[in-house]
Amino acid sequence: MTKAQGFDTLQIHAGTAPDTATGARQVPIYQTTAYVFRDAEHAANLFNLAEVGYIYSRLTNPTVSALANRIVALEGGAGGICCSSGHAAQIMALFPLMGPGKNIVASTRLYGGTITQFSQTIKRFGWSCTFVDFDDLKAVEAAIDDNTRAIFCESIANPGGYITDLDAIAQISDKQMVPLIVDNTSATPYLCRPFEHGATIVVHSTTKYLTGNGTVTGGAVVDSGKFDWAKSGKFPSLTEPEPAYHGLVFYPTLGPMAFTFHSIAIGLRDLGMTMNPQGAHYTLMGIETLSLRMDRHVANAIKVAEWLENHPKVEKVTYAGLKSSPYQKRMAKICPKGAGAIFTFAIKGGYAACVKLVDSVKLFSHVANLGDARSLIIHSASTTHRQLDEAQQVAAGAAPNMVRLSIGIEDVSDIIADLEQALAQ
Ligand SMILES: *Cc1c(COP(=O)(O)O)cnc(C)c1O
Repeated sequence: MTKAQGFDTLQIHAGTAPDTATGARQVPIYQTTAYVFRDAEHAANLFNLAEVGYIYSRLTNPTVSALANRIVALEGGAGGICCSSGHAAQIMALFPLMGPGKNIVASTRLYGGTITQFSQTIKRFGWSCTFVDFDDLKAVEAAIDDNTRAIFCESIANPGGYITDLDAIAQISDKQMVPLIVDNTSATPYLCRPFEHGATIVVHSTTKYLTGNGTVTGGAVVDSGKFDWAKSGKFPSLTEPEPAYHGLVFYPTLGPMAFTFHSIAIGLRDLGMTMNPQGAHYTLMGIETLSLRMDRHVANAIKVAEWLENHPKVEKVTYAGLKSSPYQKRMAKICPKGAGAIFTFAIKGGYAACVKLVDSVKLFSHVANLGDARSLIIHSASTTHRQLDEAQQVAAGAAPNMVRLSIGIEDVSDIIADLEQALAQ
């Protein structure tokens, strides 16, 4: 092919061809656990990674692989895998890099569940996380020590209306020779392509916009294939004989696919955070219209944010897509098509008024989810960010007087009308 295909084409065609057995035009749901080997030699080759093929669906499945390859194409990566959830994807991305005593440096502005996963749960693996304000580049660099194995941030951060200067953070990760992992859930590859800004690995919660209809939980890990895992000597699971895979040296043996093969052969095999084919099917159906939905999400979000900004009961609106946002310039660089459709706003009357508001909406759904075709609302401080103390809540953009909106693709006049009647109460 001479010309690279465009995003709208890739979101429908990448990673799939008509089924060779039946000619089925859509990707079949391969609802099978195992795959028949041609003969004993074929089986041995598959287990040795001498030949690529399907063995057992905990590792790979054709429907799940079709989705993984499509997300890889949309992100412009070298390889990738799908997982059972976005949180599983985060553990899977870190797993080849980490070990007891190793740490990650992460942005304070993250999804609430990620802050809990990184500040509490990963300690049980002997891992730790240092949280830093990623606008303070000196502090980011200072937080990196000899045991740091990754830098982690979100492109567009949920829920604070924040955009990370990925290029600036990537310069630090290059200099320090540690990979930069970017959670691209809120932006999607349509609005932001982190590899073009120097990211090493992209993770997704496919639960959100990639599926787009609130039906399944899923995750994805995509590797750029560009990181030199050998240079620093810090990633022995990738660069030294791996005892968990009969001494295979993944890198440089498997080149740009080393990280992805490690994720399948060790990560999915032994951690088992596998996506199921039915789930992959729902996400494949959703992803075909990703760009169309994101354009509408963004257009609606701008109108709603501007309307809220002028509402007398609203104290402030934190959305990078507003002209008043301090992140407007960064948006032009990182996500020029728009700042997504998730933002927060503060209302006069604090915690009690926020609770009243979420109880008064009718079109909006009060749920702990985002990135749905439907408009969603949540009071983060009493729900998703409840595990955090007030200082952490404020740092994460989820102060007690803030409400988070995920603007859907309904008629924008209906979305505004619902907020108008709810705010009146
Ligand atoms: C939802 C979400 C996650 C977690 O994904 P799950 O699929 O719910 O496990 C991680 N990061 C971001 C930005 C999210 O929105």
